[in-house]
Amino acid sequence: MIRLTDVTKTYPGGVTALGGVSLDIAPGELVGIVGPSGSGKSTMLHILGTLDRPTTGGVRIDGYDVGALSDAKLSALRASRIGFVFQHFHLATGTSALDNVADGLLYSGLPVGERRRRAALMLNRVGLGHRVHHEPHELSGGERQRVAIARAVAGDPALLLADEPTGALDSVSGAEVMRLLRELNAAGTTVVIITHDWEIADGLPRQVRMRDGRVVAD
Ligand code: ADP
Repeated sequence: MIRLTDVTKTYPGGVTALGGVSLDIAPGELVGIVGPSGSGKSTMLHILGTLDRPTTGGVRIDGYDVGALSDAKLSALRASRIGFVFQHFHLATGTSALDNVADGLLYSGLPVGERRRRAALMLNRVGLGHRVHHEPHELSGGERQRVAIARAVAGDPALLLADEPTGALDSVSGAEVMRLLRELNAAGTTVVIITHDWEIADGLPRQVRMRDGRVVAD
């Protein structure tokens, strides 16, 4: 699913955020990328999510050589094959849970009725069938994150990238969100969770530990 070969990333100004990372993640894995602040996790997420390109090195995602794709092809790959979940949910305010999830299918070209039908199914799947018409401000943090997860996986992506998905949640909601991510993984989605929380990382079958822009344990 993911192959990084000697990836480096140097930002303008000269900060080397990744100093030569090689990493293989197979389809169906559940992996935590863990490390302290400044270790390069966000940079790694941007590269895995094809939101940014490396300075040097090779990136293959879902069989595609990212370096060989135009920006337009890369956007299409991202929209159809990669789902994102963020610490602060990034839901649209003033928009129902149903439409937040349905909007995750905009790229699909499906008519709006079908997008909504699938969104309702996904919200059921994350246990929010009774909240479809609620707007984000009417939902708890844990419920918002479940809506965000439903949106991220509505298009059935091969890869789900979660950036500190429990970072803004209390421990009970955080545990629910982790259970949901495990369920999605068990159903076949490759899941990569970025976290600085060792407790979360400890519960995952594979941990990639980062420090100073390098993988120090895997
Ligand atoms: P983490 O997510 O583990 O906190 P980051 O990937 O955000 O780590 O950062 C790794 C290093 O790269 C840090 O030294 C950070 O200051 C630097 N960095 C991150 N983003 C940028 C940027 N856009 N421009 C310059 N330096 C950056």
